[in-house]
Formats: sequence, structure tokens, C-alpha cells
Amino acid sequence: MSAEKANLFDLTREELTALFARWELSPVHAARLWKYLYWDCADSFAAMMDLPAKVHARLAAETRLGLLPTALETDSSDGFTRKYLLELTDHEKIETVLMRYTGRVTACISSQVGCAMGCVFCATGQMGYTRHLTPGEITAQAAHVQRALRVHGQRLRNVVLMGMGEPLHNYDAVMKAVDILRDQNGLSLAADRITVSTVGVVPGILRLAAEQRPMNLAVSLHAATQAGRAALVPAARKWQLDELMAACRTYSETTGRRIFYEWTLIEGKNDSADDARAVGALLRGLPAQVNLIPLNPTNGYNGVPTHLAAAHHFQRVLKEEFDLPSTVRQRRGIDIAAGCGQLAVAEKA
Ligand code: SAH
Ligand code: SF4
Repeated sequence: MSAEKANLFDLTREELTALFARWELSPVHAARLWKYLYWDCADSFAAMMDLPAKVHARLAAETRLGLLPTALETDSSDGFTRKYLLELTDHEKIETVLMRYTGRVTACISSQVGCAMGCVFCATGQMGYTRHLTPGEITAQAAHVQRALRVHGQRLRNVVLMGMGEPLHNYDAVMKAVDILRDQNGLSLAADRITVSTVGVVPGILRLAAEQRPMNLAVSLHAATQAGRAALVPAARKWQLDELMAACRTYSETTGRRIFYEWTLIEGKNDSADDARAVGALLRGLPAQVNLIPLNPTNGYNGVPTHLAAAHHFQRVLKEEFDLPSTVRQRRGIDIAAGCGQLAVAEKA
């Protein structure tokens, strides 16, 4: 069965080179294959025409090219957002989003099929958890987007792990995938253009700090009190707010990096000037930027998004009273359910 063969997208460049050494094949061929995977983004072995027959024979016998076939591709009427529904070998599906706004191209990629964290306003949380993605299923999403961009002579420069799933719940696979995405002979993404967003998995944040992992970290906060947070984010009962903030402090002290704090703005729930003051007080003294995301609609939650004027007022309070920088996330791709927290797969094949 092809599913048992090694997925080439699972391998780091070092692992691929070691595999070729075991096969007694030249490292030059391994290097060429790597370029085919992440530079040319070849969509078949047949397209890898510069590899000799003996290499092709080995690859065909022992490996597979873990491409993710597109089950559905949808373009937003805003002209900036494209969503891919991609199929995995076990027929599970995930979503990947290509965003072309704020003057740059960004891929929003998934780390799990579904999510176990159950945030009340998130469509992925509402669908529950099915399984972790492998490193290759994560890297292949980026290669998929890069393949689409190459046609227009563009290059993928930003990746956010903000699609389906909780990246730090699938730590090892995500970190291996990030290493592959950063490889200088491949997609060569800069560390500060890769962002991992977490619901607040404290052990994962501490491990990122201890391992000095080069990437941006975003932490989903949404409320500045333990009770308020636990009502929106069930995972907050396990990793409490004070513990989370201590981990964030350790992270910033150890790595010297600021953290992006995400705040989904829900009208009447967490969007008042006093809420902004509570965020400001909570983050005082920490290197931080707040990303405000007006709530996107999902079937399972009937909250209302904060109006833009109120979001800007929230932003002003953060700036003027706490000197805390923030951005309001542009609402894009909502008509195709490609906005933050809207990714879900309705039916299983
Ligand atoms: N699991 C990770 C990353 C994926 S979600 C995390 O939770 O951080 C990416 C961001 O979208 C998170 O900040 C999340 O809280 C937010 N989000 C989820 N559902 C949303 C919704 N319906 N509207 C706006 N933002 C949402
Ligand atoms: Fe999972 Fe993030 Fe959605 Fe929460 S917001 S359910 S952690 S994907």
C-alpha cells in the first residue's frame, strides 16, 4: 500500500540526504529532489525530469509524494482570499487559506484535523478532534500554496499556523514542519514570518522558550480574567490565566521576543473600554502587541461581532492609556468561511 511508504514531505533535508546515503545514491540527487519538492513544487515524480532512472526506481518503490489533492477551491468575492479543501490519504480533509492582503502573501495552514480545545466561538472547535497532522501534511500545505503562487511568479513569504487545530497540541510534528519550511534550500521562510498561534498550552510555550525555537508566537487571550477566559476557552480550566501569563513572561524573557496576543472581539462580552483596560493591566511590562479580531460567524455560536468603531475605541484605550500597540484584523474571506475560526469540514468522506 502506498500509504505505508515514506512521505517525502515528512523528511528534513538532512533526513533525505541520509536516506540517499543509505541507498548509496549521490547527495547531488538528494539536493535536486529537495528543490523539486520545495522550489519547483513538482506535482508528480514524472515532472522531476533531472533525476536519473535509478533514483526514480528507488523513489517509486520506497517513497511517496504526499501531495494533498484539492477537493474544493473557493475564491472570496473580496478578491484577496482563496480557500483550499485538501484531502489526506485517509480521506480526512483539512482547510488551507491563501491570503493576499496587506501587500503580502500569507498561507494560513492547519495542524490537526479538527481541534480538541473546544473554544465556543470556533468552527474547528465545534467539530471536535479527529487526529494530528503529520509533519508532511503540514509542509505539503505550504508547498501546495507555493505551487499556486509560482504560476504568477510569486513566492510564499509568510505562514501562520492559525488554520484548523491547536499547533502546540501537536508540538513535535509542527516543529519539524517549521524546520522544513525554514530550510534555506527549500521554501526558505524567515523565522519572523512564521507564526504559531496557541490557545495557551502552557507546557508548549515553555518548551518553545527552552528550545529557543525561531518563530513568532501568538497567544489567544480573549479575556483578562480566569472566569471570563474559561467561559470562552475550555482549555483555560487546565492552563489557568496566571500560569499562562507566567509562561508568556518566561518566553519573552528567554527569547527576547514579543508575543502577539489575540483577542476575538464579541459585542457586549469583551469589547468595552474597561475590557481594554483589563488587557492593558494584564500585559503591563510585557513586550506585546494585541491583535483584535472581530468575531466571525460560526453555526454553533450566536455572539455578535464588535462594530469597527468600537474596535477602534478599544485600540485607542490600549494605545493612549497603556502605550500598547494593536491591530484590528481585516475581515476578509468571510463569505467563503475562510476567516479566523471559521475553518471546519462538515462531512467526512
Ligand atoms: N488553535 C490556535 C490557532 C487557530 S485559531 C489558537 O486558538 O490560537 C486562530 C485565531 O482565531 C485564534 O486567536 C482564535 O481564537 C481565533 N478565532 C477562533 N474562532 C474565531 C471566530 N469565530 N472569530 C474570530 N476569531 C476566531
Ligand atoms: Fe482549537 Fe484554536 Fe479553534 Fe480554540 S480557537 S477550538 S484552540 S482551533
